[in-house]
Amino acid sequence: MPVDTALRILFVSSEAYPLIKTGGLGDVAGSLPRALLDLQLDVRLIMPAYATALGQLGETKILAQFSEGADTITLREGQLPDNPLKVWLVDAPGYFDRPGNPYLDSNGQPWVDNAERFALFSRIVTRLALNQAGLNWAPDIVHCNDWQTGLVPALLALSAQRPATIFTLHNLAYQGLFPAHYLQQLGLPASWWSHHVLEFHGQLSFIKGGLVFADRINTVSPRYALEIQTAEFGNGLDGLLRHRSAVLNGILNGIDTEEWNPATDPLLEKHYSINDLSGKQVNKQTLQTMLGLPQKPDAPLIGLISRLVTQKGIDIILDAIPNLVKLPLQLVLLGSGDRVFETRLAALAKQYPNKLAVRIGYDETLAHCIEAGADMYLMPSRFEPCGLNQMYSLRYGTVPIVRDVGGLADTVTDTSAKTLIKGTANGFIIGTDASLALLKTVKRALRRYRDKTQWRQLQTTGMQQDFSWQSSAREYLTLYQRAQQTNPKPAPGSNAE
Ligand code: ADP
Repeated sequence: MPVDTALRILFVSSEAYPLIKTGGLGDVAGSLPRALLDLQLDVRLIMPAYATALGQLGETKILAQFSEGADTITLREGQLPDNPLKVWLVDAPGYFDRPGNPYLDSNGQPWVDNAERFALFSRIVTRLALNQAGLNWAPDIVHCNDWQTGLVPALLALSAQRPATIFTLHNLAYQGLFPAHYLQQLGLPASWWSHHVLEFHGQLSFIKGGLVFADRINTVSPRYALEIQTAEFGNGLDGLLRHRSAVLNGILNGIDTEEWNPATDPLLEKHYSINDLSGKQVNKQTLQTMLGLPQKPDAPLIGLISRLVTQKGIDIILDAIPNLVKLPLQLVLLGSGDRVFETRLAALAKQYPNKLAVRIGYDETLAHCIEAGADMYLMPSRFEPCGLNQMYSLRYGTVPIVRDVGGLADTVTDTSAKTLIKGTANGFIIGTDASLALLKTVKRALRRYRDKTQWRQLQTTGMQQDFSWQSSAREYLTLYQRAQQTNPKPAPGSNAE
């Protein structure tokens, strides 16, 4: 799409792959800014200068140095190899230069100063967005992501002349809630202490900064954008989201189609493609050997790679396993998370060694081998803002069996006589969050699996789908243009002045 004048985008994220990643947000921030750059937009990614991120980036140049309250801030610029995207890092001694997880300490507890850390980050972003850091670069759009950046749209709303703001929700379950005293401690306006603004049941809510003040809000799938406006999925914020529904929409995440490509994936035993799926059988054999399962080329193999948490429906799978293992199939599970789930899964794997293989931990290589070697992929999430693995599965000819929620509903079409004729069938939908429903759907999938021509059709339909970031990035461009139209007061120095 031709762009007359390059829009200037400040993309604000608390993590970005490969510098630092804890979840889906990291993947998006690692891919979307680059895809926007490819659309000829002028994009800068800004994030905190965590020790890990600085280490990954190598050499950086100092763009600016200034004081913010009692702190001296250094703004650094770096670039990843073979990536033209400019990465800005907010270096504030004592705030981000510590090892490990960006949000949690070594005991898995939130860092005690998270409110101060992400309030400071937001203040610096606001300053840059208003062209008040001596950089002579002002964005037209400030694109914020999740609660860590929620104060940015709020702080920007205090200025009459400001860029347009976008707030993207990656998971509404994480809201950045802090004790009430932080309102004053962080120097935020007293008038913000109202349930119409940042108060949430007696706590200070960072996410509400984005939800109340951003010009446009979006989530990472169209279905999740609708779901979060209901009491069932709204996490207490559905009323506010309904109130803002006129400026709320969903844009499906893309996936890294280079890293997840069965025709070139360096982690696979044998490559394969839509025209020749024979290599998939070799990968299945390798996977069975790797995990000590019997070599059964015809036994349908179901894979799962996940955080082991209730959101992902792991308890539903656990309840279903005693019945699943009675079916002529094999199950392969890779994940880590809730200790109770880890222990129960490991015990079941011991009980059914010919049917069930479990690996506890995070293993990128095994994840690729499962996607390539499995026939089906199980994802019975209770809610799923977007979900990546069902898209990887579709691309790898691994037919997904998923719940009818969020991004899963937007990417998977249930197999029926009707959808087979229409050519849209690419997977199976589990009707409810009961283990019996899961079992019934797996049985339905096994019946279809026996018809090789039909199965091949499901695989082909999935493998043909376009999940590239290019198409999502074009939707974000439209969103930016809309936001600009509704906010006709850009900051000094921007294109749209
Ligand atoms: P979420 O962000 O809610 O965890 P997504 O499906 O959006 O779920 O993304 C999860 C990503 O993390 C996927 O790329 C998935 O393959 C990967 N992943 C999750 N657990 C593991 C694991 N144990 N080993 C390897 N990769 C994992």
